[in-house]
Amino acid sequence: MNDTDGKKPLGLGGAARPGQVKQSFSHGRTKSVVVETKRKRVLVPKPGAPTAKPPGSGGPSQVSGDPSKRPAGISDAEMDRRMAALRAAKVRDVEDAAKRVVEEKVREEERAVRVAEAEAKAREEREHEEALRLKAEEDARHQRDAETREKKKEDVRKPAGSGKPEPIVDPAAAEAAASRAETKGVASVGPRKTDRDRVDRSTTTDRDARGKAKTADDVRRTGKLSLSEAMNGEGGRQRSMAAMKRKQEKARAKAMGIHAKPEKQVRDVQLPETIVVSELANRMSERAADVVKSLMKMGMMVSINETIDADTAELVVEEFGHRSVRVSDADVEHVIDTVVDSAEHLVPRPPVVTIMGHVDHGKTSILDAIRHTTVATGEAGGITQHIGAYQVRTDTGAALTFLDTPGHAAFTSMRARGAQVTDIVVLVVAADDQVMPQTIEAINHAKAAKVPMIVAINKIDKYEANAQKVRTDLLQHSVVVEEMSGDVLDVEVSAKTGQGLDKLLEAIALQAEILDLRANPDRAAQGAVIEAKLDIGRGPVATVLVQNGTLRAGDIFVVGEQWGKVRALINDKGERVEAAGPSVPVEVLGLNGTPQAGDVLNVVETEAQAREIADYRIKLARDKRAAAGAATTLEQLMAKAKADKSVAELPILVKADVQGSAEAIAQAMEKIGNDEVRVRVLHSGVGAITESDIGLAEASGAPVIGFNVRANAPARAAANQKGVEIRYYSIIYDLVDDIKAAASGLLKNEVRETFIGYATIKEVFKVSGVGKVAGCLVTEGVAQRAAGVRLLRDDVVIHEGTLKTLKRFKDEVKEVISGQECGMAFENYDDIRKDDVIEIFTREEIVRKLD
Ligand code: GDP
Repeated sequence: MNDTDGKKPLGLGGAARPGQVKQSFSHGRTKSVVVETKRKRVLVPKPGAPTAKPPGSGGPSQVSGDPSKRPAGISDAEMDRRMAALRAAKVRDVEDAAKRVVEEKVREEERAVRVAEAEAKAREEREHEEALRLKAEEDARHQRDAETREKKKEDVRKPAGSGKPEPIVDPAAAEAAASRAETKGVASVGPRKTDRDRVDRSTTTDRDARGKAKTADDVRRTGKLSLSEAMNGEGGRQRSMAAMKRKQEKARAKAMGIHAKPEKQVRDVQLPETIVVSELANRMSERAADVVKSLMKMGMMVSINETIDADTAELVVEEFGHRSVRVSDADVEHVIDTVVDSAEHLVPRPPVVTIMGHVDHGKTSILDAIRHTTVATGEAGGITQHIGAYQVRTDTGAALTFLDTPGHAAFTSMRARGAQVTDIVVLVVAADDQVMPQTIEAINHAKAAKVPMIVAINKIDKYEANAQKVRTDLLQHSVVVEEMSGDVLDVEVSAKTGQGLDKLLEAIALQAEILDLRANPDRAAQGAVIEAKLDIGRGPVATVLVQNGTLRAGDIFVVGEQWGKVRALINDKGERVEAAGPSVPVEVLGLNGTPQAGDVLNVVETEAQAREIADYRIKLARDKRAAAGAATTLEQLMAKAKADKSVAELPILVKADVQGSAEAIAQAMEKIGNDEVRVRVLHSGVGAITESDIGLAEASGAPVIGFNVRANAPARAAANQKGVEIRYYSIIYDLVDDIKAAASGLLKNEVRETFIGYATIKEVFKVSGVGKVAGCLVTEGVAQRAAGVRLLRDDVVIHEGTLKTLKRFKDEVKEVISGQECGMAFENYDDIRKDDVIEIFTREEIVRKLD
């Protein structure tokens, strides 16, 4: 109202409601209220205007000078008088108010002085009277003093509640009150607004006029500084206005679109090999939905939870105007000691030897003979099923480490995982046999791994042994042995008699010397997993071949995606050892999970490091699988299998007692089949058959193969319920044969066609109800009712089908032999002509087998 000079009062109805004028004055302490009320009846519209004017603005003269704004029936003199009275009343009112404030202030000061005096007096008195009291009593007195003071203060404050304006003890506040009275006198003669009024008004006024309202508030602030004001908070109001502004700005920015984003921050975005979309958005501080949108523009339909590769992510990062920083390997891996040993720390180490060769050429027998043990005779089925590693000493004292692998499976699968453990390959070829497919395979493996070879020509004790033939055979595969003036060492041996074995060991030692194999035993161990299994009594156990450094009991290590602390080390003789140096194979106990053959073991300093690296690797492997779109879910597996329609697949699940067996089986399975049928190992693993295996098998319609393992009780129950077949084996050959037979079942039967006769159409008749009937002469063989027929016209097959009828002299017959005439009609075919030839044949389905 103060600043609405000449306008109708806020919230009032204006001229149509003259009574309101009186209301607006009801808060004012002026006589004019009464005057206006009495004259209400004759008031012209806009009655609030004159009274709303501040007294100093010359309102009355304006009113008196402008008869149109004057109430009717009032003379100029009367008007002037009234206005003078009004002015005087207002001035008086202001003076009264100012006087009251000043009086109040004086009273306050007097009161404050009185309180201070009273306190001083009381203190003096008390000090005087209680000088001899104990210290504790003094404390108590002080306490009372404080209370008294507090009480007095309250007493002083009490009349303030009823007083107007509020009496304030604080002199500064009193001063403020005085200044407020002044402001009031100058700025307004209108009714004082209470805080509540102001709040009400602010809510009803147009919010856009806030800037204006603020200036008004500022004015008021100088005039009123009370506790209630501080609590209600001009400050609070300001904050809310700022929030409002921010909101408006945001809305404006939004309306202008994405490019209008205020000063975009360019970030360095770390990109690992793969990254989940939401994480990428997070690292860029962008909205995940925007990232997905940008990927869609690139033609990639991904959800925020999917993983994308670093290259794609880099494009996205550029698109959003950030910088990408590629991180190749996680920093966690850096704690692994990879310092290259200097020459003075290196000492010779034994060679690691792998024996390879065709099945039955005597690999196990040679290993057995070398170790003077009887591994070969104790094995189920007579083929190597356990992969281990053993160390032997030659008569001359040289140590040699032998890896016992079934065929080449472990060798290749280990190489596939990057573990190059073998230093020398001993290629066993039976002298009574010849170079066989697996011999060639072994040669290729050794060559691919760039591992030197030593040829052991075995079974030399046999009568039919022909070592020379083996040597010449090998020539064809570019293996030139020493005897043939090449550089490949060859030794004639007999695992049976032991003949030449010492020479073989010497040759190995010699080859090792040439290789000059060295390692540093005085560093954190690094090794490769040769074999890993889940032992019921001992938990996960891994056979580790130490490659560098020394592995000790108590060492903390990470191995592939697993980690652990060496609880015990057991050597190849089953003895507990405290440490294992380079080229020494040991069983390691204390793993938290079963690693994979070929996994690399690294000793680290703390458990936290080991765990961190293992976690990182697990995540990495998972991300890689996801990024590569590998079939990880059953649905994907099924979809892939279905998409691959041209080849019939026999899916199987393999669980084995040891990793080596599982891998050997998986590889043997992959080899079964041809371009029509193949065995697909959905999953192969170590340990008992579990419910989840059954689940996978059920979904894929696969049988579960247990090799030296059994299904646990819940898995058995689940298998029974779901009708999943579980087969147990302990001999690989049996398993391979069975799977071959099963895969053979998938082969489509061969259809063999045999021509049994020919007939020539002599005449074509039309028979009602039957259609066209061919009058034929069987020229060759026999015509059979049930046989298949082809219609040939000028030696071109124009129809193939079956017969509807075969008649001889109006009788339906089963067959008509050569030289006889007959009537024939085709099933669903009518276009027959004279001189067409009918070829008659039978079909036979032949069940096939995989060889
Ligand atoms: P692997 O499949 O290569 O491991 O071959 P094995 O070591 O199991 O041997 C296959 C068969 O050959 C076994 O029956 C052995 O007894 C036999 N055998 C192995 N070495 C010799 C040998 O030097 N002389 C003779 N006469 N038989 C041998």
